[in-house]
Amino acid sequence: MLAATATVIVATGQAPANIIILSLTVVSVSFVGMGAYRILSPLVSDQPDTPITIGGRTRAALEREKTLVLRSIKELEFDFAMGKIAQADFDEMGGKLRARALGLMRQLDAGGGYREQIAKEVEERLKGAQGAQGAQGAQGAQSAQGACADCGTVNDPDAKFCKNCGAKL
Ligand SMILES: [Zn+2]
Repeated sequence: MLAATATVIVATGQAPANIIILSLTVVSVSFVGMGAYRILSPLVSDQPDTPITIGGRTRAALEREKTLVLRSIKELEFDFAMGKIAQADFDEMGGKLRARALGLMRQLDAGGGYREQIAKEVEERLKGAQGAQGAQGAQGAQSAQGACADCGTVNDPDAKFCKNCGAKL
């Protein structure tokens, strides 16, 4: 678009028809270039990513890739509708992209969700274990130092009520 504008500015002085044809040419060339770049960029830019994400792919990375693949499919369909891509290429690339999108969605639905569930469960269990340990610690402290039976707060030895919750000691 910038190039088109520049062309129009440079070409001023020529006949209006020439200017229109010139800028149209520049615009269509840049469209084709952008289309090719857009189709190739997710495939090309994905390659350096792959070794990094092989070990533990985060949900965010999967989502990002899914968005990219879905966008590529839309652009491919658009380019095909514009007649820029042959049926065979469209079928091949579209099939690959769709298979990839499906795989990613499956990973997100099953793998990603499952992993999140596990993480949540582990976190809850850790919390539970800490809570149990805390309660045991409080009970131990109670017998030794007269901690509150309700909240586990250690009060002064001569205290009659808990300074934290007010329960009778
Ligand atoms: Zn208390």
